[in-house]
Amino acid sequence: MNIHEFEAKQLFADADIPVQEQRVASTVDGALTAAKALGFPLVVKAQVHTGGRGKAGGVKLAKDEDELKEYATAILGMDIKSHTVRKLLIVPAADIAHEFYVGVVMDRRRGCPVLMVSSEGGVDIEEVARTSPDKIATVPLPDVRLKAHQAREIAFGMVKGSKVPLRMADILVKLVNVYREREASLAEINPLIITTDDGVIALDAKFVADDNALFRQTKVAGFRDVEEEGRDENEARENDLSYIRLDGSIGCLVNGAGLAMATMDVISHFKGTPANFLDIGGSSRPEKVMAAMDILCRDENVRVILINIFGGITRCDDVAKGLVEALKKRPTALPLVIRLTGTNEDAGRQIIASELPDVTTAATMDEAVQAAVALAQAPTA
Ligand code: GDP
Ligand code: MN
Repeated sequence: MNIHEFEAKQLFADADIPVQEQRVASTVDGALTAAKALGFPLVVKAQVHTGGRGKAGGVKLAKDEDELKEYATAILGMDIKSHTVRKLLIVPAADIAHEFYVGVVMDRRRGCPVLMVSSEGGVDIEEVARTSPDKIATVPLPDVRLKAHQAREIAFGMVKGSKVPLRMADILVKLVNVYREREASLAEINPLIITTDDGVIALDAKFVADDNALFRQTKVAGFRDVEEEGRDENEARENDLSYIRLDGSIGCLVNGAGLAMATMDVISHFKGTPANFLDIGGSSRPEKVMAAMDILCRDENVRVILINIFGGITRCDDVAKGLVEALKKRPTALPLVIRLTGTNEDAGRQIIASELPDVTTAATMDEAVQAAVALAQAPTA
């Protein structure tokens, strides 16, 4: 789960990582009130669950009230990579001498988190990672802890002086602590800045929570932004569906994460593109199928729906019933391809044959996927 920059900074501040004083506003008036408390110059920042806000015009330095009004008006409601800006973060402007990148992220290949640091921090870090990965140092953290001497070695390698590298080393240790104690999958500061008067501050903050730990991370869980996450993700979560939207044309409804992954692989193999990952899980509730169908049918990229069910705990007849109910409630013009196999498959197939004669049925996964790919590529009426 993603959280906003201002929330990530609260977690960082709790761990004693230096951040600026901050205010959050959702209106232009609110921004002006915040400015009275903070004074000028200040920086107005779009709060959305995506990066690259600076380049999109969502981070602006305001010297006075007029500029603040202008920028707050422009940024509120702005679209940044399909995220609508509803909140602004207002912070005092900082005098930057240098921008660093520091982040802790899970490295699946190593099987442990890594600390990544770079002296080339700021808005172009993705470019640095692509073109000169040697400028990013990576330190594995097998016990999810950074020792003080390790932190000092890294910091003294990044910046000259005595006080500044020690301040930086302290922040590195604390960032790893936040990552561990708040159970993140990513904790990142970009940029971590040195100010012209030798302060070291987290100017930006990104935190991605490990969803599986949210049940015991109450502070982090409280940061869930339902409006920002969107209707599909919320409905999926409420109905216990694992759903991730992609940009292809074949809507997938599958039971089991492994089968869902395999289905996407087979779609790619036959030169199709999945519109989503959707795992309805192992339960037999027809309501789940209905919720899943609702989500798929309103995705305007979807040209065909592929239902791939391997009945184990999930019963094929329940899936079929759910499907019939879903289509009664919400008929769709989209073609459907279904492959049902496993527990109660005969009963399931019978329901489909008698209630949904237009649905294409397939016996194997290859057949089902090939039929779906052909339908997705067929010209629309
Ligand atoms: P992002 O583009 O979404 O990563 O947003 P950031 O918060 O990282 O801001 C982008 C860039 O704006 C930073 O890398 C800085 O160069 C610049 N910036 C942000 N805040 C300030 C500030 O207070 N003073 C100055 N001089 N630049 C800032
Ligand atoms: Mn940034």
